[in-house]
Amino acid sequence: MEPTRTAGSSHDRHQHRVEHIAALRRHIAAHPAQALSADEQHDLLHMREEEKIARDVYVQLGERWGLRPFLNISGAEQAHMDAIATLLEHYGLPDPVPDLPVGVFATPAFQALHDSLVAQGLRSEREAIQVGLHIEELDIADLAQARGRAQQPEIVAVYDDLERGSRNHLRAFYRHLQRLGDRYVAQHMAQAAFDAVAQSPHETC
Ligand code: ZN
Ligand code: ZN
Repeated sequence: MEPTRTAGSSHDRHQHRVEHIAALRRHIAAHPAQALSADEQHDLLHMREEEKIARDVYVQLGERWGLRPFLNISGAEQAHMDAIATLLEHYGLPDPVPDLPVGVFATPAFQALHDSLVAQGLRSEREAIQVGLHIEELDIADLAQARGRAQQPEIVAVYDDLERGSRNHLRAFYRHLQRLGDRYVAQHMAQAAFDAVAQSPHETC
């Protein structure tokens, strides 16, 4: 199946991302920081590290396979990390991954997840696409849970934004999966929910 959408140039994409992040920062700055619940705090720290998993794995698989989805999406994951960092700063929470290089994590469970996903993705191009889909459905499931617990409107806005981005990433990897004639079994989302996202059109923000 051919992609139904012609993506903009990488320059357009970068410019759009820069403007989008600037608007998000203004939105966050416009709300005075309220005290966060324990769940809200925990979820922000968790999502900061989970977005780093996405970025770091895609950077490494992009270098290995030169596949466009990884090269395009790793930049978007950096923007997702930055969006969460902006919230951490706004609420005076410490960054769990300050200046940690690609492939290094603060939490042992994230380190183990990263290591196993990179090992899988380096085995073949097919495995790399499976890893991309795994990361995106994990991200969507975790963002939805965190959103359900969030009360602050600017946190909800960021989670909505990241979830929409993740749905588009999932669609990009899914198109590649179909070109390879491969299948994917959902592990974090219900299969029907995964299929509904994978087979629906790209969303614009
Ligand atoms: Zn992301
Ligand atoms: Zn993503």
